[in-house]
Amino acid sequence: MNIVVIGTGYVGLVTGVCLSELGHNVTCIDIDEDKVNTLNKGISPIYEEGLTELLQKNIEAGNLDFTTDYKKGLKGKQMVYIAVGTPQGEDGSADLTYINKASKDIALNLENDIIIVTKSTVPVGTNEHIKELIKSNLIKNVHLKIASNPEFLRQGSAVYDTFNGDRIVIGSDDEEALEALEKVNAGFHLPIVKTDLRSAEMIKYASNAFLATKISFINEMANLSEKIGANIDHVAAGMGMDKRIGNAFLNAGIGYGGSCFPKDTRAIISIGKNVNYDMPILESVVDLNDRQRGIIVDKVADRFPDIKGKKVAVLGLAFKPNTDDMREAPSILVTEKLLEEGAVVNVYDPVASENAKSILSDELNYYSNIVDAIKGTDITIILTEWKEIKEFPLENYKEYMVEPVVFDGRNCYELEDASKSGLEYHSIGRPTIK
Ligand code: NAD
Repeated sequence: MNIVVIGTGYVGLVTGVCLSELGHNVTCIDIDEDKVNTLNKGISPIYEEGLTELLQKNIEAGNLDFTTDYKKGLKGKQMVYIAVGTPQGEDGSADLTYINKASKDIALNLENDIIIVTKSTVPVGTNEHIKELIKSNLIKNVHLKIASNPEFLRQGSAVYDTFNGDRIVIGSDDEEALEALEKVNAGFHLPIVKTDLRSAEMIKYASNAFLATKISFINEMANLSEKIGANIDHVAAGMGMDKRIGNAFLNAGIGYGGSCFPKDTRAIISIGKNVNYDMPILESVVDLNDRQRGIIVDKVADRFPDIKGKKVAVLGLAFKPNTDDMREAPSILVTEKLLEEGAVVNVYDPVASENAKSILSDELNYYSNIVDAIKGTDITIILTEWKEIKEFPLENYKEYMVEPVVFDGRNCYELEDASKSGLEYHSIGRPTIK
């Protein structure tokens, strides 16, 4: 199949590369010229395991190329995937500016019949809007079909997830569009859920809202456990053994971040508002998560009422491990607060430092390894559970820090190990070790 993918972010790039790996002929379009030039050289602008290898392999095989030119990109293609961003608007609803612009640009450059496939997470009803928008701006009398194909990949394991996901959801009110999408995706050998347009759009929001709820729920249990002397690790393990609950997404911590859960939970609340339906569960999920991010800063303030001049190491800046994405990362709030209070702040992240530099304060001191970041500090705060951080020996904090007090926002260490290490160790939903 000849396919064009619009947008080469985390979703568009991974989609384009993986479809080309299946043997489809793929052109990716982005408005960012630097990105397109970099990609054509076989260099990935994002960090995702396994992506660069597949990118280079398929460029060399002639299956994959990148352009800023819609006319060139759309020429002779049978399917156009839309994978541009749908960020949070000021009122919490999804901002469709990029979707609208891409749709108009498709219409103004389209010369043949095509199936439009929306990968971006969009409010229910948006696919119909996209089809109408394209139709009303067409320069040639061509035939359009539309389908929704929401994306469920996790940043950090996006390529793996594309080939090993739990399901592929395709929604359309057009049987031929569904069949075509089924064929395109056949090579992934994953279960395919076929449904109508609106249900497909809703599946994406409902899934993210449920996962966010699971996180806020376990965090609420963690906060209570801490106050009543229970250990959330044991609580979660005991709960997770019940198959009706399941053990995934029961890790207590400082809340979810990233480009999806925060905006998608707010967007579904806004979708509800549009039809006069309040969503009290999700309102609470969002509120709790907003509070949860500040919890680690509160713990530091309780222990050190005056941190002016204290040296603090922050380990992990990305919103989660295995990604360089800084969108809605808890490190933004935490480093801001620490600097505001007059602390001297060292930071370390295995891959997100470059992105962090354009977002976080210039006053931070960046280090290229954990030991250098914690050397001579009074406090260490762990914000991202990178494998490297989880495996960093506890004794090293004692060896390199002046006053070894560790605040672990991701429960990276077993409490028993922390207890043996002789450190002062604060975590989430578990007793403090002193
Ligand atoms: P992103 O911000 O990383 O990338 C968007 C890309 O689209 C950018 O490269 C941008 O330059 C390009 N773009 C913007 N307008 C364009 C236009 N008119 N024409 C061509 N290119 C254009 O976004 P992302 O994280 O890949 O997310 C894309 C969509 O997928 C969003 O709706 C998001 O909610 C959804 N999604 C994201 C994830 C994730 O983990 N990131 C997972 C599932 C779904």
